[in-house]
Amino acid sequence: MKGKLLIIGFGPGSYDHITERAKQAIQESDCIVGYKTYVELISGLITGQKIISTGMSEEVSRAQAAVKMAEDGQKVAVISSGDAGVYGMSGLVYEVLVEKGWKEATGVEVEVIPGISAINSCASLLGAPVMHDACTISLSDHLTPWKLIEKRIEAAAQADFVIAFYNPKSGRRTRQIVEAQKILLQHRSPETPVGLVKSAYRDRESVVISNLRDMLDHDIGMLTTVIVGNSQTFLYDENKLITPRGYQRKYTLNTEKQRLRPHERLRKENEPWALPDEEPVSEKVEAQASALQLANEALALATGKQEEEPAEDIIPSRVESILEFGVSPGLVNKKFTSKQLLTLAEVVGEHGEMEYTPHHQIKVQLSTDEPDLVTEKLKAEGFLLLPAGDVLQIKACDFCDGEKYDSIPYVEQLQEELGGRALPKELKLGFNGCGMACYGGVQEDIGIVFRKGKFDLFLGGKPLSRTAHSAQPVMEGIEPDQLVGIVTGIIQEYEEKGHPNERFFKFFKRVQEVGGFKHKDMAPVIQLEPAPCGD
Ligand code: SAH
Repeated sequence: MKGKLLIIGFGPGSYDHITERAKQAIQESDCIVGYKTYVELISGLITGQKIISTGMSEEVSRAQAAVKMAEDGQKVAVISSGDAGVYGMSGLVYEVLVEKGWKEATGVEVEVIPGISAINSCASLLGAPVMHDACTISLSDHLTPWKLIEKRIEAAAQADFVIAFYNPKSGRRTRQIVEAQKILLQHRSPETPVGLVKSAYRDRESVVISNLRDMLDHDIGMLTTVIVGNSQTFLYDENKLITPRGYQRKYTLNTEKQRLRPHERLRKENEPWALPDEEPVSEKVEAQASALQLANEALALATGKQEEEPAEDIIPSRVESILEFGVSPGLVNKKFTSKQLLTLAEVVGEHGEMEYTPHHQIKVQLSTDEPDLVTEKLKAEGFLLLPAGDVLQIKACDFCDGEKYDSIPYVEQLQEELGGRALPKELKLGFNGCGMACYGGVQEDIGIVFRKGKFDLFLGGKPLSRTAHSAQPVMEGIEPDQLVGIVTGIIQEYEEKGHPNERFFKFFKRVQEVGGFKHKDMAPVIQLEPAPCGD
């Protein structure tokens, strides 16, 4: 009979967190090899197998004994806590096999059964501290020189990894965690959240929340895993350690940071760290990159100079969020003053961005933790500030440089009451001061045109794509005192009944009636072939 080695990780310790395959494997084995405490932890699953349990330091002899028994034809379960491949028995068993010239095709069968490692089980009790790039570092210098461990801590600290320290301390080994803390403090804030989890999912489980400065004031032992957050990890509700998925997020006026609706999440425009849509890397770009590399290498050889490392510290020490909003000189006024532009340039600085858009506003993006300071400065200069995203935006004409001023109070009232309101999808309201409608008001989601002292209303324009069409004229000659009420009613209906991400023209078509106005199809009469990128 051919033997088999079952190398099993049984997870943190509770039966609920052992995989089904690990349970089966324990049951189908003839004998179980493992450290005493581990055998005790799984005692409820043992059904008469021979037990070979030894002390902690006898791992090599355990692995040798297991291989020997499998070669003698037995099914041998070698057990590790957590995952057998993380500071566990699997590497050791393979080393013994390699030593003997074992080959998969001819030697004893080996099956490695994965388990939940301490980094995962402990993280689950702390909230979501791992989340981003993380590493495990064992502080045990039994088998690894301390100098190397130190180097790894240093590197992980520098590169802003979340770190899970295994084997942080034992009766005799007490200095390592003190040294580790020292190294980390050279790169991370003393306030960096730290979680100390002892005996996760076992009887004497304990979870302590601390920080880099105070972590050593708490009990740390053989059964503790220490999880140190990265520069962005934050503490929430007193006991949740949360590491954001990325380093930067956008927010806009009147909204709280990090408050994105589900359909806005993981889009590159909102969360720049989200994975971009897959784009094939063009070979040309790669070739260019390597040509540049070669050129630089050649230059370095010729001049004897190495390329200089950028001096800038690339790890942000605080949460850096990007504030995004629109600025314009006013609703009616289309002219910037030089002073306004100077102030804008100063506020945006070298690293911010100003984008010229077709929506009567310059879109501004800048990194700041003090949004009020920025917005106050711009408002003081007479700028109109507009939130970004799925909000109502009014695009008014310039009323012939203010000469046709009769309807201006109405557009101002609309801006006051509806401008910037959050909606299922961005909505542009075009407002034009005479029948020429030369600012294209009737092309927008909602169009309003002032004519002969009264207003004409247009609904459901589709400004983009090959099937673009103007808005549908739904009413002529609205009395001025009725206008704001009628428009507000329409907006409220859209706000309440529109699906997330549904543009106003689609909504109008779906519900067929808005504000008492019936929908009529304004789409082009000839059928257009569907385009691959939409309509
Ligand atoms: N193979 C195991 C790790 C063994 S090294 C795994 O994948 O989890 C032993 C170290 O693991 C301990 O010093 C402790 O840091 C960590 N550890 C293992 N089980 C743990 C548990 N239940 N709770 C907290 N830490 C644990």
